[in-house]
Amino acid sequence: MSLRKLTTNLFRVPDVQNCVLRCFSLHKLSEEQLMLQQMCRDFAETELKPIAAQLDKEHRFPAEQIKKMGELGLLGITVSDEYGGAGQDMLSLAVAVEELARACGGTGTIVSVHNCLYVGLLDRCGTPEQKEKFLRPFTSGTLGCFALSEPDAGSDVGNMSCVARQDGDYWVLNGTKSWVTSGVEGKAAVVFATVDRSLKHRGITGFIIPKPTEGLSLGKKEDKLGIRASTTCNLILEDVRIPKENILGEIGGGFRMAMEQLDRARVGIAAQALGIAQAALEVAVDYAGQRKAFGKPINQLQAVKMRLADMALRLEAARLLVWRAAACCEEDRRTSKESSMAKLAASEAATFVSHNAIQILGGMGYVTDMPAERHYRDARITEIYAGATDVQKILIGDLIVKEYS
Ligand SMILES: Cc1cc2nc3c(=O)[nH]c(=O)nc-3n(C[C@H](O)[C@H](O)[C@H](O)COP(=O)(O)OP(=O)(O)OC[C@H]3O[C@@H](n4cnc5c(N)ncnc54)[C@H](O)[C@@H]3O)c2cc1C
Repeated sequence: MSLRKLTTNLFRVPDVQNCVLRCFSLHKLSEEQLMLQQMCRDFAETELKPIAAQLDKEHRFPAEQIKKMGELGLLGITVSDEYGGAGQDMLSLAVAVEELARACGGTGTIVSVHNCLYVGLLDRCGTPEQKEKFLRPFTSGTLGCFALSEPDAGSDVGNMSCVARQDGDYWVLNGTKSWVTSGVEGKAAVVFATVDRSLKHRGITGFIIPKPTEGLSLGKKEDKLGIRASTTCNLILEDVRIPKENILGEIGGGFRMAMEQLDRARVGIAAQALGIAQAALEVAVDYAGQRKAFGKPINQLQAVKMRLADMALRLEAARLLVWRAAACCEEDRRTSKESSMAKLAASEAATFVSHNAIQILGGMGYVTDMPAERHYRDARITEIYAGATDVQKILIGDLIVKEYS
């Protein structure tokens, strides 16, 4: 068989077709995605970049900007238009989050978590009644939260101790959920609790809890290293009574539901990491062109050029993985390997690029007059939340062993 014929036949196989098309299309965005990217870039440049340092310094939540983002459709990017969303794909979401995080890392967190872990989850798993009540109003300016972690159950989610006990048509929840993004501002939370601790993962169940609700209170607002525009706090549940209609998905199906959603959330966090890394690279390139040492701009020094090359290489390689993972999310299958690879590569790239940006700025990298130190602090979280780096490696390793066995 000629090579031409072999290639033609191969291209007829759907999997090969998808893979080839994905490789070609990953290098460029569609017209619609480019327009969204430009809109987010314009918004971020005018509305977020000028206030990002102040938000960080004052630990201030960008309430007005979040409202405007709701009006622009950025709080329901992948939600179907039937429920007020923009009906876009995950690649569009990644592109939008990158642009917002490029201007303000904390705002990147707020938008990414809300889209991927609240409205995205409701859209995928909610009943029509739940969507009407807890999804539609949340696509246009009201935030929701995702409360999976606990003080003694972060990476080890199966060790969850928040319990849900059935009482007639109600469930009564007791326990503490930790590290809840937008816990202060959010008007509803998907809270995971166990219906039977001895069942470990198989007891975990999702509940939709409106805020305020009797028995639900907030812990202190965490004082964080970075992403300070985003609030983080504990949710404390003391005999919180929730009607059975508010169970999200199946009883005992919460762990699987959360992990499937985290496949998508890791793409969102990876996109946030890209935005922070992109901003750090831009600051470094700009500074290196202006700063003179030994009679010439430091961007003429070979060591500085090599450092910039390493930074750009890590960033652009990570972006390819993020876009591939985002594209894979449109397929009807788990994307754990692609999502974890994207999150691992992008978060490590963000740490690497922002670390090296500080080095290029020298003393000016270490002070708050320049944004490099903020990028460095903002980047750090991307290696921790939605699954820490070591946990991502274990996940990828497990899947590789299975794939090649
Ligand atoms: C700012 C912020 C916002 C957050 N937002 C949310 C949110 O909105 N909703 C939510 O549910 N959670 C949220 N989290 C929680 C976050 O997802 C967890 O912090 C994260 O999963 C790690 O859990 P942990 O902090 O308990 O660390 P631990 O699980 O205690 O891990 C500590 C260290 O041990 C390592 N480790 C743990 N297990 C293993 C293992 N099996 N093999 C190798 N190494 C291991 C980890 O990699 C890490 O380095 C947020 C956290 C922060 C800091």
